[in-house]
Amino acid sequence: MADTFIPTPALHRWVDQLWLAAGSSADEARLTADHLVGANLAGHDSHGVGMVPRYVKSWLADELQLNRHVAVTSDTGTMLSLDAQRGMGQSLAFEAMQLAIERAKQHGVCVMGLKNAHHIGRIGHWAEQAVAAGMVSLHFVNAMSVPVVAPFRGSQARYVTNPFTVGIPVPGREPLLLDFATSAIAMGKVRVAYNSGKKVPGQMLMDAQGDYTDDPAALFPAAGQPGGALVPFAQHKGYALAMVVEVLAAALTGGETTRPGNLKYQHAVWNNMLALVFDPARLGDQQLFGAEVRDFVDWVQSARLRDAAEPILMPGDPERASRRARAERMPIDAGTMAELDAAAAAVNQARGSALVALSSLAA
Ligand code: NAD
Repeated sequence: MADTFIPTPALHRWVDQLWLAAGSSADEARLTADHLVGANLAGHDSHGVGMVPRYVKSWLADELQLNRHVAVTSDTGTMLSLDAQRGMGQSLAFEAMQLAIERAKQHGVCVMGLKNAHHIGRIGHWAEQAVAAGMVSLHFVNAMSVPVVAPFRGSQARYVTNPFTVGIPVPGREPLLLDFATSAIAMGKVRVAYNSGKKVPGQMLMDAQGDYTDDPAALFPAAGQPGGALVPFAQHKGYALAMVVEVLAAALTGGETTRPGNLKYQHAVWNNMLALVFDPARLGDQQLFGAEVRDFVDWVQSARLRDAAEPILMPGDPERASRRARAERMPIDAGTMAELDAAAAAVNQARGSALVALSSLAA
């Protein structure tokens, strides 16, 4: 079925109002809408408003907690350990990054650990917050929910899609932004394919027997049935990166790894994050740095193209192009729209509110 288009500002208002109706503060509702719609704008529907139904289920099950703030568990100036107290990831990660950025401005660098956040979504958003303040930032994030990624040489899922992200502000040109899952495909993209009735080609999924499949339904088994698994990207390399991401993001921050004994929740996705934020100006001359990057990018992009229709891009370029294309209206697939309408109805039932169905706002 064809996508439905919703005017982008109306989509933002709808998400904002949904969380206000659920009981979020004005700041929390706005930050949540900014982030989720921002992920759709960046072209990552996997981490956009399509997550709202899961967040609503998590909130109704008393897993996601609204209106929490970060608690500082340890503070040595340049090293901060923060507990998100099971709060809304979008507002808690924003607060945590604000603290880390302040420290990096003051001391030049901050190593920040954030544990027990509800899903913090598109990690590139947090790197962009640092980049907007002139900071370089690196992010290692583990996700705590039912494992969906098999280790290299394994055929059963053992961990989640553990993203790795780097944001680099470059004087005189657009920032570089690397931001990806360490699985061959992000789980949310499998959900989007499943909701839109599409296949996932390219040996990125295994069924419950460990055989490759292109059917995203393998990752959405019937209750009580074993599920399949995603494979790591780039074979042993993606797997090895995911391992160090899990250990840095979770074990080191005092968060939890995806061992069975830690999986106590039904709907929530929890994230733990280690972020390194630093001021590049304290490492050297920023004008020289900008000029060097510009010349290097020119050199890289001078390579002969394999296909004239596909130019050589820089990390961050696809997201910028998507923002331009989606500024006015956002495509929502039929499965996701039905789930979003059901989520609004569930909030109305729980809170006696009168949210309209998102589908009624179709342009
Ligand atoms: P992806 O495969 O779409 O890769 C995106 C990255 O690759 C971006 O940095 C993009 O700029 C860059 N890129 C894309 N095409 C390029 C090209 N031709 N040349 C150069 N660079 C290019 O990303 P993904 O793995 O699907 O991840 C999607 C999102 O999912 C990310 O934002 C990630 O943070 C998020 N995620 C979150 C969680 C969580 O638990 N919160 C877990 C996994 C992933």
